[in-house]
Amino acid sequence: MLEDKIYDVIIIGGGQSALACGYYLRRTNLEYVILDNQVSCGGAWPHAWDSLTLFSPAEHSSLPGWLMPKSEHEFPTKTEVIDYVCQYEKRYKLPVERPFQVKEVKKEASYFTIITDKSNFYSKTIISATGTFGTPFIPNVPGREIFKGTQLHSAYYQKPEGFTDQKVLIVGEGNSGAQILAEVSKVADTVWTTRKTPEFLPDDVDGRVLFDQASAKYYAEKKGEKFDASKYNLGNIVMVPSVKEARKRDVLHSKGQFKAFTESGVLWVNGKEESFDAVIWCTGFGFATDHLKKIISTDERGKIKTKGTRSVEEENLWLVGYGGWTGFASATLIGVGRSARATIKEIQTTLDGNENYQA
Ligand code: FAD
Repeated sequence: MLEDKIYDVIIIGGGQSALACGYYLRRTNLEYVILDNQVSCGGAWPHAWDSLTLFSPAEHSSLPGWLMPKSEHEFPTKTEVIDYVCQYEKRYKLPVERPFQVKEVKKEASYFTIITDKSNFYSKTIISATGTFGTPFIPNVPGREIFKGTQLHSAYYQKPEGFTDQKVLIVGEGNSGAQILAEVSKVADTVWTTRKTPEFLPDDVDGRVLFDQASAKYYAEKKGEKFDASKYNLGNIVMVPSVKEARKRDVLHSKGQFKAFTESGVLWVNGKEESFDAVIWCTGFGFATDHLKKIISTDERGKIKTKGTRSVEEENLWLVGYGGWTGFASATLIGVGRSARATIKEIQTTLDGNENYQA
């Protein structure tokens, strides 16, 4: 690593999306480095709650080039995913430098200065692959600051034991809400609150179907055809074993919405009050793009205007892995390869006009 030279590409972030980009960069003549703020490999995965499993079997959860080893379980566990992502980084000898917190990016004449907590780096192009995990989102519900109980975002939730015998409100109708409800309800008295009625996928489909849906949409749009979403009218909660088990115990029911907090709990839309010891926010994430604010404008959740993965405002900046707006299924292990490959191809063409890229 040389900090006083100008790299062709610097990737900010060292999770699965950065590694997928690294995989394709290895095949080029471009000089690049990956800067990650964590002390060890795995991106967001080491921070996930202990019982988190993937939505799809191992063979449908692979980064480009190397299949995830088969799991003993139907869906790979958190530990298996961390092992895979870390081994992937080693296998392809990807140049990840840790820990480097990128604080800010500035544009000089024809290159970027990447300011980290330790030193500055310089690069002609940038890929931001910082994910969402660092920006937990909590909606602005009236009175949130007066509630005297515990409040925790799913980003910091590890295991149910801390909630034993408590009355716990689980907020959010997504997969994290369903999975955390499933295990906290075993040790605590839980209530599930959601804005919309939770929708469950049929038992026999999993994340593969979501990926197929994203692919069908991608190819239809590429061919200029209309996408028939009705063929894919499926719920969004995957019935992983823990959620199926919770259904057997009859706990997967939402009480609807609440409108405000009180000191001891919440006020439901029908005006009734209910007390809680704790609230777990499973309300998703924004996008970790604060480091780009000097060179680009973002919306309130950190989203940036892109064409494909390329920033519309800053032509030498690409964004990979943040979800739908940076490529269909790009926030998944299996989906990010497609975005990464297209991104590296575009960067190489931009930098040296080399149309003979071997991906
Ligand atoms: P991350 O893994 O978050 O990596 C980004 C890296 O950049 C991190 O190391 C971060 O610390 C670092 N970083 C951030 N800001 C900076 C900065 N300023 N400077 C330097 N470094 C920085 N995905 C699947 O593929 N299959 C699944 O079945 C699946 N199930 C999921 C279930 C749940 C409940 C959840 C919440 C997520 C699931 N995901 C699944 C999604 C997956 O966890 C994330 O989408 C994935 O980790 C994103 O990878 P990434 O590399 O883009 O970001």
